[in-house]
Amino acid sequence: MTIFEKILSKEIPATIVYETEKVLAFKDIAPQAKIHILFIHKLAKTKDVSEMMLSHPDQISDLFQAMTDFAKANNLGKGYRIVTNIGDEGGQTVYYTHFHLLSGEKLGRFGK
Ligand code: 5GP
Repeated sequence: MTIFEKILSKEIPATIVYETEKVLAFKDIAPQAKIHILFIHKLAKTKDVSEMMLSHPDQISDLFQAMTDFAKANNLGKGYRIVTNIGDEGGQTVYYTHFHLLSGEKLGRFGK
């Protein structure tokens, strides 16, 4: 079981900032910006977005709906970044599909 499934089942704690029937969002334990939130789908059975696109594209839509709702509710109109890492070389460390939402300050350009 991945760490995010343990967060979903409340086996380990997380700071939850947004929740719907389908989506859970919580603060990243090692924030890379002033605001760094992770968005996961409660019904996901996939390890990354590429798998999710094949089996449940509707879940990607649910996640983007949640992220845009969150951005609006938290007045992130000055800007934010949505990132998803795929595979080892893409920087992925947790193999349960998720998106990062980064905001709260002027972000740098992409790095290696
Ligand atoms: P990835 O590296 O797979 O794109 O993203 C995984 C993210 O999960 C990382 O940014 C990492 O800091 C975060 N993370 C890892 N373990 C935990 C945890 O136990 N709790 C929370 N809230 N975030 C975690």
